[in-house]
Amino acid sequence: MDLTPQPRPRYSIVVPVFNEQAVLPVLLRRLDLMMAGLDGPTETIFVDDGSSDCSAIILRAKAREDPRYRFVGLSRNFGHQAAITAGMAAATGDAIIVMDADLQDPPEVVGQMIEKWQEGYEVVYGRRLSREGDSAFKQATASLFYKFLGRLSSVDIPRDAGDFRLIDRKVLEAFLAMPEQDRFVRGMFAWLGFRQTEVAFHRLPRLAGETKYPLLKMLRLASHGVVGFSDAPLRLAIWCGFAVSGLAALYALWVVGHWLAGDTSLVAGWASTIIIVSFLSGMNMIMTGIMGLYVGRIHAEVKRRPLYVVSEKAGFDRVAQPQSSRTIDAA
Ligand code: UDP
Ligand code: MG
Repeated sequence: MDLTPQPRPRYSIVVPVFNEQAVLPVLLRRLDLMMAGLDGPTETIFVDDGSSDCSAIILRAKAREDPRYRFVGLSRNFGHQAAITAGMAAATGDAIIVMDADLQDPPEVVGQMIEKWQEGYEVVYGRRLSREGDSAFKQATASLFYKFLGRLSSVDIPRDAGDFRLIDRKVLEAFLAMPEQDRFVRGMFAWLGFRQTEVAFHRLPRLAGETKYPLLKMLRLASHGVVGFSDAPLRLAIWCGFAVSGLAALYALWVVGHWLAGDTSLVAGWASTIIIVSFLSGMNMIMTGIMGLYVGRIHAEVKRRPLYVVSEKAGFDRVAQPQSSRTIDAA
């Protein structure tokens, strides 16, 4: 084991791993090549998300023998989004790059992301030009989902982008200050702002093994995206309520009209029953909608997101220190 102190890394590569033993030999070789080509000291952090195969054994051994590699093992499978958060929290570099273990996000693109970072961008995400590796079903549902989420959400979540992304250290710190439980990481970066740009790439098929995102996990991620970044579903009830009440009122007019005109085909008591039932169900829905508005407020509060994120400050160092802190300094 090499215990000589290493220079502080400039780049941190974060790789979430869940049962990926089939791709690890090739991944490690490609990472070695990529790290050798970068213009500063680099660390790679593997996060083992509770794998049940040999992934953890291989990666732990790698971290012990090669000082550029680190290993974080989670106690069970917490899911991709939690795993990348754990890896980012452990990163010490100035720029942090998150990429999948299965080489669907080609390491060569990292070089282009770093160029953008050096130009001054603080978030560089990979946009998928094509998704050769993914089934037609996955492509279609993903594209539909992002269109839908784009409509609903008040922040602009980039389409065709996954979690393959470079972020600057200060964006990372703002991200880690967001304590929310259901993490939809791509939405959180969109929410954070900063200078963002994209690098386009062709997404290759997975190198080996099979996807760790079965339909159920995909649906769960999608629901976190919608619930975390939009309160439109909560407001749905109120609009339905108004629509039902409106229709009920029109219907009531029609029924009363017939009743006044002495229409004998109407069963006695039917008109009043129908009017009462439709009026009450409309009221019910409006009330549910109003509750929804309050639940939405509570939901926004419990996420405990910061009110705003400061990206830079200037000129503050010339301001005289307040009296109290000067006294403390002197003490
Ligand atoms: N992954 C993870 N935990 C999970 C599921 C996936 O850490 O519960 C990792 C997985 O090992 C891979 C990345 O997340 O590195 C993306 O998963 P995958 O390639 O299966 O997703 P897809 O590309 O099919 O959407
Ligand atoms: Mg993949």
